[in-house]
Amino acid sequence: MQLSRFQIRRQFMADTVLCANSQVRKIMNSNFKVREIDIDGIKIGGKNAIIIAGPCSVESQDQIIQIAKAAKAAGANMLRGGIFKPRTNPNDFQGLGIKGLEYLLEAKRQTGLPIVTELMDTQHLDAFIKHVDIIQIGSRNMYNYSLLKAVGETKKPILLKRGFSATIREWILAAEHIAKAGNENIIFCERGIRTFEEYTRNTLDLTAVPIIQKETGYPIIVDPSHGTGIRALVGIMSEAAIACGANGLLIEAHTHPEQSISDKDQTIDIGELEQITKRIALLK
Ligand code: PEP
Ligand code: MN
Repeated sequence: MQLSRFQIRRQFMADTVLCANSQVRKIMNSNFKVREIDIDGIKIGGKNAIIIAGPCSVESQDQIIQIAKAAKAAGANMLRGGIFKPRTNPNDFQGLGIKGLEYLLEAKRQTGLPIVTELMDTQHLDAFIKHVDIIQIGSRNMYNYSLLKAVGETKKPILLKRGFSATIREWILAAEHIAKAGNENIIFCERGIRTFEEYTRNTLDLTAVPIIQKETGYPIIVDPSHGTGIRALVGIMSEAAIACGANGLLIEAHTHPEQSISDKDQTIDIGELEQITKRIALLK
C-alpha cells in the first residue's frame, strides 16, 4: 500500500520513540498532535503553512510600508522586520529601536498584517506586549533564561529561534522555561546551526521539524534565509521545509534586496516571494 506524506508523518508522530525528552515536564507532547497557536485568526500549526515575510531590518517608514503591501500581495500572512538587531559587529546598523515599532504599526494599519519582531531586552517588554503580535526571541538569546522567563510571564505568542549552537534538547528546554513561567503560546523556529560546513551561512537542520512536533506538540516554522545565507537557496529550502511538515516559513524579503541594510545576500525580492507562496500552496 502506498502511504501519503501525511500518513507517514502521522505514523512517525504516533509510533516512534525518541529519547531526549526526559526531564521535560511542561511541554511534552502527550496526544501526538501539533497544537494551533491563534494570532488574530491566523492559525500556526493548522492545516495551512503560514508565511511570515519582510526585511531583516526595518529601515524607514516608507520601506516597511512598501514591503508590507508587496508581501501581502505576494501571499504573505504576517510581516517581519527587526527593530532591535543583534549584530555581531557593534559598528553595524543596530536597528531603529522603538521608533521602528511605530513604522511597523503603521504598516500593520495599512495592510492588516500582524507583526513579528525581535525583543532583545526586557526594558521594551511592555511596548511589545501592547503592540507586537508575535515576540521573536532570537538565536543569540535562546539561552537568555531571564528573558525567556519574562516572556513566559506574558500571554503573547513567542517565536523561539533555535540557538545557533543549540541541540534540539537544549532548545526544547528553552521552551520549557517559557512554558513553566506560564506561557504555552510557543512557536519554534529552525534557523540553521553552526557546523563545519562553509558553503552555507548555517546548516539548516530540517530533521528538527518532525522531531520538535513529535516531542513537544508545538508548531515549528523554518527560516531558510538565515538557514542558508544564500538568496538562491531560499525557495528550494522553503519547499523542503514544507514538504517535511513545517507549519510555516520566516523569510527575509525586500522590494530592493540589494539595498537591504542587513542580510542582503539572503534576502529575496517580492517576485521570488510570490513564486514561493504559490509553490507552497501546491504542496498542501
Ligand atoms: C532575524 O530573524 O533577523 C535574526 C537576527 O535571526 P537569528 O536570531 O536567527 O540570527
Ligand atoms: Mn537577518
